[in-house]
Amino acid sequence: MQQFAIFGNPVVHSKSPLMHNLVFKHLNYSACYGRYLLEDGALLRKKFLDLGLKGINITVPHKEHAYQACDFLDSFAQKVGAVNTIIEKDGKLHGYNTDAPGFLKAIASFQESKTVLFLGAGGTARSTSMILQDEGYSVTILNRSKERLKYFEEKGFETALIEEFQPSSSFDLIINMTSAGLQDDSLPAPKELLDTLIPQAKACIDVIYGKETPFLKLAKEHNIPTKDGSDMLLYQGVIACEYFTNHKYTTQEIEEEMKQAFIL
Ligand code: NDP
Repeated sequence: MQQFAIFGNPVVHSKSPLMHNLVFKHLNYSACYGRYLLEDGALLRKKFLDLGLKGINITVPHKEHAYQACDFLDSFAQKVGAVNTIIEKDGKLHGYNTDAPGFLKAIASFQESKTVLFLGAGGTARSTSMILQDEGYSVTILNRSKERLKYFEEKGFETALIEEFQPSSSFDLIINMTSAGLQDDSLPAPKELLDTLIPQAKACIDVIYGKETPFLKLAKEHNIPTKDGSDMLLYQGVIACEYFTNHKYTTQEIEEEMKQAFIL
């Protein structure tokens, strides 16, 4: 039986074991998926090999360590410097990033949108902004502190500090890429700024899932369509599972089983 796991810190609340085990069980794939609390990211490769795993997903804060741990990277993972899925093949570790294509699929229903405002400039913003740029979206990145904006400036994105931002046009999509609202009741930007931007948007999206964040609550008060991060989580998992099962099943077959994890 092949063994898979999610590596992260913390990892106890991850939905990934449920998502993948539902697929393995219902499609009769001989595999099981656990969770592993990895405190030191530098040990990722050693732990993977010591545990005899076939594949892993990687969550916060180890996606850059995962990138370093691989022998081979697909071109997108190489480009963004972050890996959330690793497969062992012939003793070598192959790394992929399924967060970004998962995110793209999650926002597919907003096809008419072309201009996007990101609130936040962390690891998730890095990979998702790059795939949007590849797809022809115009992406502006705001962050509360300067340090993380440098990466985006170098990649050619419009950037600004949240506190200095003076909007000169509207944005089709406004996306909360911060962890504001995850474990607290904070907004990702000052309410006055959001009260100006949100009414002009076609939709507001949050990458946080499993709760209504203050950001999405505010968007609803403005009667703007909203979407949380559940579909992003689902689709990154579906794409990872395609790698885990070596493309034995169709996307639809995996998606149908994996979706059950969100209603259990
Ligand atoms: P990082 O730690 O890499 O970055 C955090 C970002 O949030 C930084 O830009 C930080 O700004 C900003 N931030 C944190 N708190 C606040 C606040 N109170 N007000 C304003 N800005 C704030 O995190 P990730 O990019 O890895 O994750 C971001 C979010 O994405 C998390 O909530 C995570 O749960 C979610 N996520 C969802 C996924 C899904 O499948 N749905 C997948 C992956 C992540 P600064 O630079 O100033 O510190």
